[in-house]
Amino acid sequence: GGSGATQSDLQKARMRMSLQEHLLHFYQNNVNIPTEEQAVARRAALDICAELRVFLHAKLPDMPLREMYLSGSLYDELQVVTADHAQLMVPLILEKNLWSSIPGEDTIMNVPGFWLIRRENLEYFPRNSSYWDRCMVGGYLSPKSVLEVFDKLVAGSINWPAIGSVLDYIIRPVVPSETLTLEVQYDTERRLYVDFLPLLVMEDGTSLIAKPHRLVAERHENLWRQSFRVAETARLRALDQEDGGCRCACLKLAKAMCKLNPALNRLNASQLTNCILLLCEKEGDWTQDALADRFLQLLRALVGHLEAGRLPCALSPKVNLFCELTEQEVDELGYTLYCALSDPAGLLRT
Ligand code: GDP
Repeated sequence: GGSGATQSDLQKARMRMSLQEHLLHFYQNNVNIPTEEQAVARRAALDICAELRVFLHAKLPDMPLREMYLSGSLYDELQVVTADHAQLMVPLILEKNLWSSIPGEDTIMNVPGFWLIRRENLEYFPRNSSYWDRCMVGGYLSPKSVLEVFDKLVAGSINWPAIGSVLDYIIRPVVPSETLTLEVQYDTERRLYVDFLPLLVMEDGTSLIAKPHRLVAERHENLWRQSFRVAETARLRALDQEDGGCRCACLKLAKAMCKLNPALNRLNASQLTNCILLLCEKEGDWTQDALADRFLQLLRALVGHLEAGRLPCALSPKVNLFCELTEQEVDELGYTLYCALSDPAGLLRT
């Protein structure tokens, strides 16, 4: 005795969990999704995907598509909190001699990470030589117009109530939706949102998705978004596999933090993944015991990038992953995270 500590001080000290314990507890109780819940959500997404394949083959046998497939965090063990969304990838086939790609930095918009797809050889192969000419706007393949084609089909001509009753789901297109989204209610309590994501895969493997630039300006409408998701997720996983590290756990904690705090909703999986990948270049210790230290470091790194207004993509540094945030959003995110540095557990309450 003699230290002057009262009974209640000692109690408080005991109750105050270390950040490490707090993170592990939060991970178990809030971040991690039960295997069963994930399986049921995947089943529902697969059923819808199968129906859409049958429908498109029957109704539009000429549409040049590769097989649609499901993707996203639900399939990479990276979804958090609830199993509630997936992407249905719809790869378009473009004729090599009729279309060419122009990187965004070589256009008047000067936006690395976005691309234009230009129609070539119109004099020899006039309009309608390519199926996708119907989506050409001002000489370029318009992602917006491609989405509209699918929107008409998926929201307009598929009898979802009938398909839903066969599958025992309630299915409805979400309107209005920036991307084309289906809501699938597969249980009284559970909903799954399936985004339709048309995609172009170029000869060198570059993937472009029809997801519009967020700061919509007329001149940005024809831009296709380069997707780094497959490569960045693979790199994170590979690093963890090499050393039994906690990078994916750290990512999932950060994703849950952003999902559960409205002030952080604007931060997405790609930004968080890349921030961790950049941290990996400087920091080697990702052992499970270092989770709390790395998590704090991630928060600090995010604050730093927000202050700079720039988060380079780890796979393509000229791409600024904050380029679609407004100045005000950058300030608000930075402020929220800065305040969290002194009490990170505060963002991990539910
Ligand atoms: P989560 O939605 O936060 O769990 O993160 P995901 O890792 O599943 O990423 C999904 C988001 O990334 C969606 O907004 C997609 O539009 C976007 N995205 C970009 N490229 C891809 C891709 O190649 N596949 C998928 N599934 N989503 C992509």
